[in-house]
Amino acid sequence: MTATIIDGKAFAAKVRGQVAEHVTRLKEQHNITPGLAVVLVGEDPASEVYVRSKGKMTVEVGMKSVEHKLDAETGQGDLLALIEQLNNDPEIHGILVQLPLPKHLDEDLVINSIDPAKDVDGFHISNVGLLGTGQKSMVPCTPLGCLMMLREHHGSLSGLDAVVVGRSNIVGKPMAQLLLGDSCTVTIAHSRTKDLPEVVRRADIVVAAVGRPEMVPGDWIKPGATVIDVGINRIERDGKNKLVGDADYASCAEVAGAITPVPGGVGPMTIACLLANTLTACCRANGLEEPE
Ligand code: NDP
Repeated sequence: MTATIIDGKAFAAKVRGQVAEHVTRLKEQHNITPGLAVVLVGEDPASEVYVRSKGKMTVEVGMKSVEHKLDAETGQGDLLALIEQLNNDPEIHGILVQLPLPKHLDEDLVINSIDPAKDVDGFHISNVGLLGTGQKSMVPCTPLGCLMMLREHHGSLSGLDAVVVGRSNIVGKPMAQLLLGDSCTVTIAHSRTKDLPEVVRRADIVVAAVGRPEMVPGDWIKPGATVIDVGINRIERDGKNKLVGDADYASCAEVAGAITPVPGGVGPMTIACLLANTLTACCRANGLEEPE
């Protein structure tokens, strides 16, 4: 069997196109422009690349993009003051603080100081609680992008066995909540899971969010299963820098029914969902109908 490739790049372009159309209507009919503020503390090269690409795509869909680049030494008080200012800015509908933060800053405190209505990353404790109880919330972008690709590929996910490998607050746990919300039978696996290969072999849907290059081989995959590879790992192979996922693409694609590539799978969907969340936040703030 050779898996269908789930083209996240093309799907993300479609989602961004829909967001752009909605933004145009908002401007024409209500004179409102959604605004996204991204806060970057320090000079982590990977974070700088993400922030640049987020800013570029925000502008491309017609939104206002604001970037705040703060010195690595920025104190907690100054960062919290900036967030307070953005919370009170009526032209800003989404606030994203790029993680990880330098060690001297309290990440939980910073994230929980964002107005939950503007928390387009969905990491604020209120949004985590709302998602966990099945209420309207801001949903974390990476798992939301994964869910959208799964729905597009499968239609209904009801009754499917899903195994999420990884239990981080930003990917694994919200992914599991979303799959549960779509009536999957969900297992969350992690570094202490006993006999991981056997656990993964039961799954109709495998979401790999581990941060270990090519850790999940094809012989862990049930024939015909769908593999969603969240991992972004930079490795050196044959003297060249390469991006690989947490699944071993070549062997998984032999067995799986469908698979997301790295790059070009989950990554582009994450940014598209960030823009979709910013649009949703803007519509909610203005009492307007939300996009679907
Ligand atoms: P974390 O490091 O926060 O979490 C990794 C999880 O994997 C942990 O729960 C850990 O278990 C588990 N794990 C580690 N080793 C093993 C193992 N040998 N067997 C089973 N489970 C294991 O990572 P993130 O969730 O933040 O990110 C995961 C991956 O996704 C990374 O490659 C990251 O770069 C990528 N990513 C991609 C995004 C995108 O837009 N495409 C966005 C965000 C992340 P334990 O809890 O027991 O330690």
